[in-house]
Amino acid sequence: MAAIAIGESEWEVAIPEKPLKDKLYFENLKAKVIDTNLCSRCLTCACICPVDGITAVDGVDFPDYEAKCTDCGACVRVCPRFVYEPKSGLGSYIEFIAGRSKRFAGQDGAMVTELLVSAMEMGMIDRGLFAGRDEKWAIEMFHVRDPQQLAITTLGGTKYTFADVLPALKKAVRFTKRGVGVVGTPCIVSGVRKLQQEFPIFREKVKLVVGLFCTENFHYEDISRYLKEKGVDFDKLIKTDITKGKFIATMTDGEVKFKVKELEEILPSGCNVCTDFTAVESDASVGSVGSAPGFSTVAVREEPAKKVIEYIKEKGYADFGEADTSQLNFLIGHKKEREKNITKPI
Ligand SMILES: Cc1cc2nc3c(=O)[nH]c(=O)nc-3n(C[C@H](O)[C@H](O)[C@H](O)COP(=O)(O)OP(=O)(O)OC[C@H]3O[C@@H](n4cnc5c(N)ncnc54)[C@H](O)[C@@H]3O)c2cc1C
Ligand code: SF4
Ligand code: SF4
Ligand code: SF4
Repeated sequence: MAAIAIGESEWEVAIPEKPLKDKLYFENLKAKVIDTNLCSRCLTCACICPVDGITAVDGVDFPDYEAKCTDCGACVRVCPRFVYEPKSGLGSYIEFIAGRSKRFAGQDGAMVTELLVSAMEMGMIDRGLFAGRDEKWAIEMFHVRDPQQLAITTLGGTKYTFADVLPALKKAVRFTKRGVGVVGTPCIVSGVRKLQQEFPIFREKVKLVVGLFCTENFHYEDISRYLKEKGVDFDKLIKTDITKGKFIATMTDGEVKFKVKELEEILPSGCNVCTDFTAVESDASVGSVGSAPGFSTVAVREEPAKKVIEYIKEKGYADFGEADTSQLNFLIGHKKEREKNITKPI
């Protein structure tokens, strides 16, 4: 057992055996996950590290761990890929629908934004974590506590770069009174669930977990260099999208379009072993495939999300239609094939 503190609270947590017995826990994490290219860069480990030593500059690392790591083992305990049990498929759901918010604009039907704002209006949460961006498309995390903040138009929409959602969640759970809503790719959702399994504060305070369908994501430096080479002017860029096998960068004065297959050369190793397309562990997962253009596809999986959808329907905040699960089969199958890339555990 080890004692871990977050804010005022402290918990005893059980820590797994070290595969490399004479090494620090961080060295075990490095040997088993980071150096074997399994790391998804979800930053669950960075979120829980009591000395805030884990960073994601050139890959995930703890540069001065020899001096600063307390060998508490929390990073190993929460890492979803330390004992990797790949998830895949459509997952279980209560309802599978297409939705388009009447109040917000977003990447598709803005149902992610609608879910978080409605949860806020219902009093389920007092803040939602959004991945916004700066003028060069580098992600900045925002704690949205008032829908008026959504006047920052860059909060919605998809950014194809990793977001530091979980370090932001660490702060959010300390300050929230009612609860937090969080959005992320399937690897981030798995990290949230691990944190909830291990730490009461995350069970009590994280009230809504929205997952995004995800085939791949990219390191900011790699994708921005690639897009610049393709002629994308970041000062004019208004939207990025991956649809029907094409990456489309829409600028104020035109668009750059190319086959998404070309991006394989910068595909992060953690995505190359990732099998979960639909965020099967989320309360609701949302994507574009499966519904008509301008709509978001929503898999309502758990009770909290069902309540929010009922509220949205009652208030008439969105148009709803049918979603077609069969359209997801190709991408689900494509990700399942990545199982073969997973290295054997040490
Ligand atoms: C990396 C990535 C890959 C995706 N791949 C697919 C795919 O292959 N097929 C598919 O159907 N859908 C995919 N999606 C989901 C899709 O692009 C939309 O995000 C989804 O349909 C929701 O649209 P919306 O209009 O409801 O969301 P909006 O209301 O516009 O809200 C978007 C939300 O996404 C969050 N967000 C944006 N970028 C990131 C990020 N990088 N990390 C964490 N959160 C972020 C924002 O904070 C915001 O809350 C992907 C999303 C991401 C981030
Ligand atoms: S201090 Fe604990 S959580 Fe941080 S790296 Fe060391 S063992 Fe991991
Ligand atoms: S998979 Fe996530 S928790 Fe595990 S080492 Fe990588 S960033 Fe840390
Ligand atoms: S493919 Fe998506 S969910 Fe999987 S590791 Fe990459 S970013 Fe995370």
